[in-house]
Amino acid sequence: MKKIAIIGCGISGLYFANLLKDEKLYDYTIFEKKSKIDLGDGYGIQLSVNSIKLLNKIGFRNIPINEIFFPDKVNFFDAKTIKKICEIDISSFNSTDCKYTLLKRSSLIKFLINNIPPHKIKNNLEVKQIKYGDKLRLTLSDDSSGEFDFLIVSDGVFSKTKTTILNKDSNLKYFNSVALRANIKNLNNRNISIYMGSNFHFVIYPINHNNEFNFISILKRKLNKEELSDKDFFKNNKFLKSLSDEIYEKSSLDLKGKLENIKSFPVFVSKSFEILKHKNIFFVGDALFSFSPSFAQGASQSIESSKEAFDIINSNSSSYYEKRKKRIKEVNFRSKLNFFAFHLSNPIAIFIRNIVLKLLVKNRKFLENYLGRIYKN
Ligand SMILES: Cc1cc2nc3c(=O)[nH]c(=O)nc-3n(C[C@H](O)[C@H](O)[C@H](O)COP(=O)(O)OP(=O)(O)OC[C@H]3O[C@@H](n4cnc5c(N)ncnc54)[C@H](O)[C@@H]3O)c2cc1C
Repeated sequence: MKKIAIIGCGISGLYFANLLKDEKLYDYTIFEKKSKIDLGDGYGIQLSVNSIKLLNKIGFRNIPINEIFFPDKVNFFDAKTIKKICEIDISSFNSTDCKYTLLKRSSLIKFLINNIPPHKIKNNLEVKQIKYGDKLRLTLSDDSSGEFDFLIVSDGVFSKTKTTILNKDSNLKYFNSVALRANIKNLNNRNISIYMGSNFHFVIYPINHNNEFNFISILKRKLNKEELSDKDFFKNNKFLKSLSDEIYEKSSLDLKGKLENIKSFPVFVSKSFEILKHKNIFFVGDALFSFSPSFAQGASQSIESSKEAFDIINSNSSSYYEKRKKRIKEVNFRSKLNFFAFHLSNPIAIFIRNIVLKLLVKNRKFLENYLGRIYKN
């Protein structure tokens, strides 16, 4: 029996564990830094049909219907005037079984963790040291150690395990932007609404059938090293107020007093894609590559990367990083282009963007190439 260590109990690590749960050939353990998994947060996540197809393989069809929402459209608005610019029929990429899905991140984690026996998850543990070879000897933060055939590195964007393996500083850069997340209740909105403004955008979408909505805004912000390394800076009420005030000032959508559970964090993205020589170590999810959050593909790509790593281990082949690199290049290009287009500030550039957008959303060939290519896997 092959032994697999999964580092990190997030979306990618849990999806990988779900793929192993009925496999007799593998034994696995998940090592998680935190003392318990947070199942309380009410923020949302978007899953496109490429990841729904993979989630269906582990029973996602059975998730209670009131915990998810299937939008029909993505509506684009000018944030300042709140005039609608155009819309995309996102449901046109759906099939009977695979639909673009909105839900709480905690609902997804609950679903993923449901099938994992609790004794498989070892909390409060990180990898301290690795001895490489056909077998990998891991020394953990409590000084215990164990031998594994494969290592799945799924400890997220700030992956410490990746830094240990590559033996160099993290490959991340601050994207000169801050994300502000919040919840809103009781809106009359059954779709994904993207409001584009000068140097910021925000997105509102339903996360279930209980009138709960996710609010996420990305605002350009230059921050210095001290501010970025101070975790309390992002929790500071003055800073949170400065972000929400900027949104209220720049948009005529009436949001004042409606945003609840406001949180902010800095947006870090990967500088480059790194190919690893060790054939028995797989970086997956954000630990492999972290995108700017403007194409809503982070979780979907995390699930895809875990599925690909599983298939490579199962088929004893070695093309994981080459295949992933191609896919990540396509998604990263679209994420950066969306970010650029959503944040334009020059009125002439905005005028041209809006005309181009109106034309492109009616062009089926463009949509098939820009979205369909990513949504099909
Ligand atoms: C503002 C914002 C909005 C987003 N919206 C969307 C969206 O709408 N749709 C979408 O698809 N994606 C979205 N994403 C991206 C998505 O959330 C991530 O891509 C996804 O969660 C990555 O999953 P993961 O498993 O790689 O990491 P995570 O889900 O972050 O999990 C990592 C796990 O590893 C643990 N861990 C950390 N360090 C260690 C360690 N040293 N040892 C052991 N365990 C450790 C953590 O505690 C955590 O449990 C968004 C991201 C941002 C920033």
